[in-house]
Amino acid sequence: MLSTYSFLGLIRYLRMKCMGKELLITGSCQSCGNCCRKINLEGREGWLRSEDDFLAVVKDYPEYERFTLTGRDQQGFLQFSCAWLTDAGLCRDHENRLPLCENFPDKSLHFCGGALPPGCGYSIREVRPFSKYLEEEVKERGEQ
Ligand code: SF4
Ligand code: SF4
Repeated sequence: MLSTYSFLGLIRYLRMKCMGKELLITGSCQSCGNCCRKINLEGREGWLRSEDDFLAVVKDYPEYERFTLTGRDQQGFLQFSCAWLTDAGLCRDHENRLPLCENFPDKSLHFCGGALPPGCGYSIREVRPFSKYLEEEVKERGEQ
């Protein structure tokens, strides 16, 4: 499904573009299971806001039936928990988890205005790439 920007995500994107920054994801999974308890999902029209849109996703992707609506986040997007999460906080079938689980944390999380769950072993940071510093240094020396 197509990644889309929320209003907050678009502001983040434009701010990064203006400042010549990129996203850097570092860290590793600590198997806390928190990302399986509060999940935002995307549909045809972007991040899900209505139950009807969720039902449309389930029609297209029956494997999404494992998700249960639990509420909304601060931006009004629906949040879900996953029935495949065991009491031990592990995935019932880790080998066959969905692509969205395999790819977590994806950069789209930042651009939908979201954040990593508390306790996550990853971090997502906006950084200036080394090439930008190099470009500036080369330019500065060229002007001397
Ligand atoms: S399928 Fe597994 S990894 Fe994906 S949300 Fe559910 S419990 Fe988590
Ligand atoms: S929240 Fe982060 S550390 Fe916890 S299971 Fe998900 S990816 Fe791993």
